Amino acid sequence: MANEKFTKTWKKYKRNRNMFFALLLLFLPFQFAVVKPLFQSLSENNLVFILTFVWLVLIIVFGLRIDNLKCPKCDNRFYKRRFGLFLIDNPLQSSCIHCGLKKYSLENNTQ
Ligand SMILES: [Zn+2]
Repeated sequence: MANEKFTKTWKKYKRNRNMFFALLLLFLPFQFAVVKPLFQSLSENNLVFILTFVWLVLIIVFGLRIDNLKCPKCDNRFYKRRFGLFLIDNPLQSSCIHCGLKKYSLENNTQ
């Protein structure tokens, strides 16, 4: 039961992470392959700006999904912790900041 929750969480996390990096890496090729030719051929340029805006919003959405990952063990934010008035946020951390669960761990242990 718990294992299924862990698998689901990591699968969702990997999908969000892959989408984030794909959108980030393909932004410039997208600009040169699609947006620039459209910009030069259309007299109405609103479509070009809308496409770029939507692309950037998607990068932000998937980035926030990664950053707000919930730990499958303790249900707290995996990377974030309040420390008085400060918010500690380290998205490069490999274990939960609250319970120490290793990233991609399928078992309910912290060792
Ligand atoms: Zn945790």
